[in-house]
Amino acid sequence: DRSPVTVIGLGLMGQALAAAFLRAGHPTTVWNRTPEKAADLVREGAVLAPTAAEAVTAGELVVVCLTTYDAMHEVLDPLDGALSGRVLANLTSGSSEQARETETWASERGAAYLDGAIMAVPAMIGGDEAVLFYSGSASAFEKHEATLRLLGGRTTYVGEDPGLAVLYDVALLGVMWGTLNSFVHGAALLKSAGIDATAFLPWATSWLDAVKLFATDYAGQIDAGDAEYPANDAKLSTHFASIEHLLHESETQGVSTELPAFVHALVKRALDKGHGDNSYAAMIELFQDPKAS
Ligand code: NDP
Repeated sequence: DRSPVTVIGLGLMGQALAAAFLRAGHPTTVWNRTPEKAADLVREGAVLAPTAAEAVTAGELVVVCLTTYDAMHEVLDPLDGALSGRVLANLTSGSSEQARETETWASERGAAYLDGAIMAVPAMIGGDEAVLFYSGSASAFEKHEATLRLLGGRTTYVGEDPGLAVLYDVALLGVMWGTLNSFVHGAALLKSAGIDATAFLPWATSWLDAVKLFATDYAGQIDAGDAEYPANDAKLSTHFASIEHLLHESETQGVSTELPAFVHALVKRALDKGHGDNSYAAMIELFQDPKAS
């Protein structure tokens, strides 16, 4: 299948997307507000459309990658009828709310909508490890899956709710910052005793394998929804005592206590709610109910 593809937006990411389609031999039409950015792609065989309207009518699949949703509307709102019958795959970063609004907006113009989130930098586009989430029209994804998969080996459709791609994206970023902050905090603790971060690194990464096992058990407990949270590994009260050790060591080693103090307060809130004998999975109740005390 070498169906024509349109790419709107040739920033760092848009150029990488268009290049991946071209490499696979898809007729690729591009448009960018600043047309000069299309030069390399045109040399590789892309067709530079003089207007966004002409770009959009080149084929069924229209991939959009602009700075914001406002920019997307600036470009696509005036096109109106030209979008009818197309599949809009929007890889512009935004919120789940914007994704849902844009699905309504697209359907009013007769276009099927896919909202995408890219968990990769431009250099990774087209590679086996690049993760791209899509949500929205299942039939549109099915029809264009092979083409969209050219952008990343780990291209995954996550559901009909167009907001889901964004939610997977930000939830994974949260895992990244949670992990990175605790790694850097741990490195500071060991540095305070003269140990290099590179010596700490292999222990930190192999410990993540154990954490993965804990999380596997907790995911099942969270989904069971029976609020039992059996402490198969350790009780929340035991976690709490260990967090107090981390807090204490941070204080005495002259390292910031902000991060452990935050976790300490969070787990304390769960203990106050009577979860002391539960597993760490019981923490889900705090996150699901921000007003709980
Ligand atoms: P760039 O800043 O390199 O490119 C921005 C693009 O948006 C350009 O094509 C620019 O056009 C266009 N644009 C901005 N405002 C307007 C407007 N008002 N009208 C028309 N065109 C406009 O950003 P990236 O390519 O890096 O990022 C694009 C999207 O991809 C963002 O939403 C970003 O969050 C997302 N993304 C990027 C990643 C990355 O690693 N770069 C990773 C994951 C997601 P012009 O060239 O004329 O200025």
